[in-house]
Amino acid sequence: MVSMSIIKKWFSAAQVFFAAITLFACVAPAQRIEANIKIASSAFASVEGRLIKENSNQTILNWSFANSIAGIENLGARISDFSLSDENNQPIPFVKLIGGEYLASADADAFRYGVNLNLPAEVKAMAHVSWLDDEKGLLMLGDLLPQSGANNKAVSARIKFDLPANWRIISSEKNTGENTFDVKNAAKGIFLVGKTWRERELVNGKTSLSLAIAGEWQFSDEQALTAAGEIYAEYQKLFGEAPTDKVQINLIRLPKGTKFGRWAAETRGANVTVLSADMPFQTQSVQLLHEQLRHEIFHLWMPNRLALTGGYDWFYEGFTIYQALRTGVAMNQIRFEDYLDTLAQAYNLDNLQNRKMSLVESSKNRWSGASSQVYARGMLAAFLCDAALLGESKGKRSIAEVFREIYRQHRAPNKPEDGNAAITKILKAYSELNSVVEKYVAGAEKINWETSLESLGIEANEDNLTTKLSVKKKLNGKQKHLLNELGYNNWRKLSERRK
Ligand SMILES: [Zn+2]
Repeated sequence: MVSMSIIKKWFSAAQVFFAAITLFACVAPAQRIEANIKIASSAFASVEGRLIKENSNQTILNWSFANSIAGIENLGARISDFSLSDENNQPIPFVKLIGGEYLASADADAFRYGVNLNLPAEVKAMAHVSWLDDEKGLLMLGDLLPQSGANNKAVSARIKFDLPANWRIISSEKNTGENTFDVKNAAKGIFLVGKTWRERELVNGKTSLSLAIAGEWQFSDEQALTAAGEIYAEYQKLFGEAPTDKVQINLIRLPKGTKFGRWAAETRGANVTVLSADMPFQTQSVQLLHEQLRHEIFHLWMPNRLALTGGYDWFYEGFTIYQALRTGVAMNQIRFEDYLDTLAQAYNLDNLQNRKMSLVESSKNRWSGASSQVYARGMLAAFLCDAALLGESKGKRSIAEVFREIYRQHRAPNKPEDGNAAITKILKAYSELNSVVEKYVAGAEKINWETSLESLGIEANEDNLTTKLSVKKKLNGKQKHLLNELGYNNWRKLSERRK
């Protein structure tokens, strides 16, 4: 049901996710920004505000803006006409070091500047940085406000937006007045602005899921909201709790003329933002939406709710792709063959890499060429863990147990820990996962999955240097049982239930 070109997307360098691995609003904000953001014309915002320090003895001389987010560089160059003043409104001299970085000669109280919000050159960047066009925009405080927070502590903010006539603003942040919001952690604050948004809301237990959508799609707003709600409920069942009480899902059309099937997404804090072109046919369009939501909604728990730090992207991207695929089969959104095809594709891609890298190393180089290894090899590691757990427990345990255990031990506000060390420790607590950790997470070995495939009754055939997977013709009882656990017969069960 999901075409290969869609799934391939995950393994191309184009798919990116903002590493929202700092804390989930669990430290007391050190500083506070009060600012007014005015959308003066299309593609430009002017910002003025002040910084309220943690203690008044503190002197802040370095002022800087985010310069690199998710591999998108040189963002500081978008800042113009920067100025600082003291509490008596007297200008404070400063020198500009590079774009978006300034060194003041004395302690400053207030700031003022402009931000160029032209659409980024690459459409995928539209999921990760602020932009504005003539009728809408996505504003992210992470790149709009100065990063004055000392010691990486969260900076809170009160922001008032000044919008063009007839424009609205949508956000999961706390609305405290007309176009005014209190934001606990400015780095996570996301605002959708524009005149064409349609809003829908769905309440799932304690969580409200809000959908903002604009433009014409091949699916209805209702279909999109229902899909998001069902996927959210599925993951809530897996983890046993909701990660947050308010989720904002933004579905934004990529600019006209973008190729079918192109998309980029990011889940920052409790905001899921998907920018996508549509597909030529309705069924493909719905499948793509499902796939986007299955992946991004999982991030609300992992990594966004985890108190883990550092570059453990191999886990929260690779294992997320795998679980999203597993969930697709479980929810009958994709066929078991799609699951096998995706695994084979990841395997083929990993095979092509001349220099194999450990997953820990590839995560360090995610934005400099190792992205496909983070995704493909990370996903294969997740599959090998799943197969080992299923095989060893005769189908009683699966990868789901590992997710639950990681979540239980490391969700915020638990103590922050290094992600690679914490995940490795949990995986290693299962003796059957030791070799996966040693060979692929810490080591750089070629993927060897013969035994895992055999235990599940799956065979790999090579044709023209390309490996394909299929279910064996003859299966023993154990293999049938494990395949069933993986969802092999899901469609059959479903059609029987319908009879
Ligand atoms: Zn992701």
